[in-house]
Amino acid sequence: TSFAEYVVIGNPIAHSKSPDIHTRFAADTAQDLRYGRLLAPLDGFVAAVQEFVAQGGKGANVTVPFKLEAYALATTLTTRAKAAGAVNTLKFDGGGMLGDNTDGIGLVTDIARNAGFDLEGKKILLLGAGGAARGVILPLLESHPAQLVIANRTPAKALELVQQFQPFAEQCALSACGFADVQQQFDLVINATSASLQADVPPIAPQVFGVATLAYDMMYGKQPTVFMQFAAAHGAQVRDGLGMLVEQAAESFFVWRGVRPRTDAVFVSLRTQLS
Ligand code: NDP
Repeated sequence: TSFAEYVVIGNPIAHSKSPDIHTRFAADTAQDLRYGRLLAPLDGFVAAVQEFVAQGGKGANVTVPFKLEAYALATTLTTRAKAAGAVNTLKFDGGGMLGDNTDGIGLVTDIARNAGFDLEGKKILLLGAGGAARGVILPLLESHPAQLVIANRTPAKALELVQQFQPFAEQCALSACGFADVQQQFDLVINATSASLQADVPPIAPQVFGVATLAYDMMYGKQPTVFMQFAAAHGAQVRDGLGMLVEQAAESFFVWRGVRPRTDAVFVSLRTQLS
């Protein structure tokens, strides 16, 4: 097989959907590129990237557990990568390494365009304060919500995020709390915890959901997740993170190639594969 000049790097990596997604994007945009998987040893991320670049690699997506190492390795960082504190997209050219993060814009694009939900003036509850939560805060604030509450099992971590992002909040009321403190109804509730991986739901009061509430779980796979079941049982509209996955990939593709692929058909085909 010929050399893939784009790869997704992670450990494990066998189950990554990125090669399927980018190969379809390349076909859709008539771009000539190959995209593969690169399994890096847990203690060998930097060496794996250096070898890939030496062979002629042009770009990489970075996934668990290497997003922080990619952040440290990049020679230039975009504003959104700095805000996220993590890099999921590397672009290699002229000896430099651009580090970007497309996860947050992927989420916002999926919610705003694909789900048709206008974030402006809305009340948003973000559950979780780990890497995924941090990565979406700046793009959410840039969509001008009226309120953003970050709730976490460990409230101190949510408070740290509020302090970090306060300068970007402008007209948005930004605050932190524990799960038990959340009592009011929200327009959008985003689950950025990893609780769904253990078939667990963050312990929040059901009255956060109303009939017009969109409950979004960043986790994807077989639908519905336990969080989606909980939210739907209390009347909310629900969506999983598959669209976010496809949209972050489309944004990475744009960073590398300067061309924006269409995402609808890829989304439908992945949904079929996963069901
Ligand atoms: P981290 O390990 O960085 O953070 C985990 C977060 O979940 C923390 O806030 C943690 O709370 C909380 N948490 C863990 N277990 C529980 C539980 N049982 N109940 C309540 N809260 C819990 O993980 P990430 O932020 O990297 O990932 C979170 C999720 O986002 C994953 O499911 C991942 O698959 C998904 N994701 C989806 C993407 C997509 O494209 N759709 C992209 C990126 C991530 P505490 O601080 O108290 O420990």
